[in-house]
Amino acid sequence: MRLSRYFLPILKENPKEAEIVSHRLMLRAGMIRQQSAGIYAWLPLGVRVLDKIQKIVEEEQKRAGAVQLLMPTIQSADLWRESGRYEAYGKEMLRITDRHEREMLYGPTNEEMITDIFRSYVRSYKDLPLNLFHVQWKFRDEVRPRFGVMRGREFLMKDAYSFDVDQERARHAYNRMFVAYLRTFKRMGLTAIPMKADTGPIGGDLSHEFIVLASTGESEVFLDKDILALETPSEATDFDGDLSEIITSWTTPYAATDEMHDEAAFGQVAEDKKVSARGIEVGHIFYFGTKYSDAMGAKVATGEGSEVPVHMGSYGIGVSRLLGALIEANHDDDGIIWPDSVAPFHVGLINMKPGSETDSACEELYAKLEAGGVEVLYDDRDTRAGAKFASMDLIGLPYQIVVGPRGLKSGEVEVKNRRTGEKEMMTPEAALSKLVSVFAD
Ligand code: ATP
Ligand code: MG
Repeated sequence: MRLSRYFLPILKENPKEAEIVSHRLMLRAGMIRQQSAGIYAWLPLGVRVLDKIQKIVEEEQKRAGAVQLLMPTIQSADLWRESGRYEAYGKEMLRITDRHEREMLYGPTNEEMITDIFRSYVRSYKDLPLNLFHVQWKFRDEVRPRFGVMRGREFLMKDAYSFDVDQERARHAYNRMFVAYLRTFKRMGLTAIPMKADTGPIGGDLSHEFIVLASTGESEVFLDKDILALETPSEATDFDGDLSEIITSWTTPYAATDEMHDEAAFGQVAEDKKVSARGIEVGHIFYFGTKYSDAMGAKVATGEGSEVPVHMGSYGIGVSRLLGALIEANHDDDGIIWPDSVAPFHVGLINMKPGSETDSACEELYAKLEAGGVEVLYDDRDTRAGAKFASMDLIGLPYQIVVGPRGLKSGEVEVKNRRTGEKEMMTPEAALSKLVSVFAD
């Protein structure tokens, strides 16, 4: 992409309304624009990252056996009356009346709708297990939308729903999502720690929040440092096989949010391994048994000829919130530092002196990098070099290639690693092969 033809509205001033660094940097880097409280337009740079995050989430859901569909944002109030949540949900739900006076709502979540879809088609245990997911915009009229995309009113969520014939099988479905989540966040370069979370009236131990440690996080958390050293399950994990060993290793070290915090149990952790910190909830997995299937009559025939309500779980990931979490975990004083896998572009190519001999060198590098599968943002604008450097640092692409007249005289360009700050002079050919080898998939 040529910057001269792109839309990257960078802000020079620090926006006053932004209280935390990720919100500030997203506004300054021209990724989002607030249209109403907690409601954002996603500008081109922002939408590129959102798409990359969504793609990783989708790939790992599918790897774990979940099947993608797409449910609408607008739902009928009647479904929610069946579950009893239409009244219970309260003011967070945005209620709408259509021209025929029918009561509708903008979905804050989809348990009712997915249960309705399930009961319309599935009758037998033979069709199970089933896990259906989608990535769709949600609306929750949060009392205090804040911190940009971190707590929005309109936000993008991945939500999956599992269906099993009994609790034991539902536990396996839960374990699959647990492992999928570990892999998903790891692929984004994030350490998200599964922490015991509240299961509400259902009880049991099948609810975990996945938390990214950050001083600006809304949750207070307590953990045993050992959990940070655990290895993420590999791509080769057999999701049909027994996952309990992985789950045991990840649930043995102490890790809990303040709601589930147990001082006595935390007291057993060695003093030098205790961490109390703050964190951002990026995902939540939950087994809720037959809560919705009972209320909504979603039953399957068992092998023995009887009918049972199906056992369900739901599994959310805050896709848009992840941008905030990623920036909280990856930035410095100059701006964002994207992990390779979610960077909006891989490389920023800076032409130091458009209109000079740098043009042809840049054009050639630009074409060859793109042909080699490297995503390039080419700053071909005729503006001050200092401003170009500052913008590139701000938007945080993993590498920069600087092409200037002086370097070119000795046949070299500069390659800068945004994360380490390391700069290296090399020939354009060497720069090309280095970056193609890093980013080609
Ligand atoms: P929270 O406690 O942060 O309000 P929640 O328990 O209401 O979260 P879930 O209903 O489990 O959240 O939703 C699944 C995921 O969606 C959460 O883990 C979070 O990452 C994301 N999420 C929830 N509410 C918002 C919001 N207002 N803005 C952005 N992301 C959100
Ligand atoms: Mg909430």
